[in-house]
Amino acid sequence: MFTISNGIILKGQNLLPVHENIVVDDGKIINIGKDLKEGKIIDVDGAVVCPSFINSHIHIGDSIIKDEGYALSLSEMVKPPNGVKHRALADAENDELIESMAQSMWDMVYSGTTHFIDYREGGIEGVKLLKKASEDIPIKPIILARDDSFYGDDPDLSKVKNAVRKLLKVADGIAPSGFGEITDDVAMIISQECQKQGKISSIHVGESENNQIDSLNKFNMTEIEKGVNADFSQLVHLTNPKNNDLNLVLKANSNIVLCPRANASLNVGVAPLNKMLKLGLKPLIGSDNVMINSPNMLRELEFCLKIMSVYYNEYLNPCELLKMATTNICDFKINSVVQKSLIEEQNFAEFIIFKSFSKNPYLNICNRCETKNILYTINKKVSI
Ligand SMILES: [Zn+2]
Repeated sequence: MFTISNGIILKGQNLLPVHENIVVDDGKIINIGKDLKEGKIIDVDGAVVCPSFINSHIHIGDSIIKDEGYALSLSEMVKPPNGVKHRALADAENDELIESMAQSMWDMVYSGTTHFIDYREGGIEGVKLLKKASEDIPIKPIILARDDSFYGDDPDLSKVKNAVRKLLKVADGIAPSGFGEITDDVAMIISQECQKQGKISSIHVGESENNQIDSLNKFNMTEIEKGVNADFSQLVHLTNPKNNDLNLVLKANSNIVLCPRANASLNVGVAPLNKMLKLGLKPLIGSDNVMINSPNMLRELEFCLKIMSVYYNEYLNPCELLKMATTNICDFKINSVVQKSLIEEQNFAEFIIFKSFSKNPYLNICNRCETKNILYTINKKVSI
């Protein structure tokens, strides 16, 4: 048992800053309040205590080709099956993949991330490789898998259904790349099978303006509209929403993830985050492909704060931003899969303690802190 004393806690889902102490026993928060002192006392001297980060969208498998393909287009880089990334993955040895994925996971642990949602390539074998790589690392991968049978203009649907069912035995959900690579029938099979099992179905939508226009020309619907209609539980990017897209997402209560640094790296635009927040959406945030960006959430938060403010000429609320990396996950309807703790009594003790530099605890983290300013990470690897 120990007590974190003399810190500013960002408490509950709203990250309310309070001067209280936290008592932790056997990996759980058993008490929060003023003047509590039980077990070993850890005086953090005014430091900021924040829930640990969840990196809600990452492709950790491409850790093997960091910075390769710089300045190529989105499709040249990541479109299956011939993008730079897919050719590299097809050529890689398992040992090499495991080692580079483990290195990225340690990068995340050191920079305050305890959970991440991964788009895993390589079918069942790919899922197994990531599980093996994460075995001895205090981080929880939430793995969304895919299978080669998904692709093509005329896929064998019984094969697709079989592949999805097999994948869901080992993975936390399914994530094809995008609507450019799969038919509507394949999309429906994925979302329905995941829904039956309470698992995540996730897909990239509206990443580039071109993707949106192609989709409108071909189907008379945007990719975002297609994602909502196919009932995917999570939509990733929404960088270029059109028409009524955001209202549809709000109405469907879809979980959404933004990736500002990846969008900037691939030169596809800046998601309208201020507008999303005003509508009442509660996005998550992710670092996307490790080949393009480091998986460090502190870097993502600072970039997001500044790009949104300058691009839309309106300052972003830093508390709302920090929630995207921490407590917004609590609103995800697939909460049987994503068990992310809040700083509340009876929850798992999963938080990070940052040295304090400024009077604004949110800007202290999003604008000021670096990995070296994390004083403690309290973490328990959660199993589903
Ligand atoms: Zn992605």
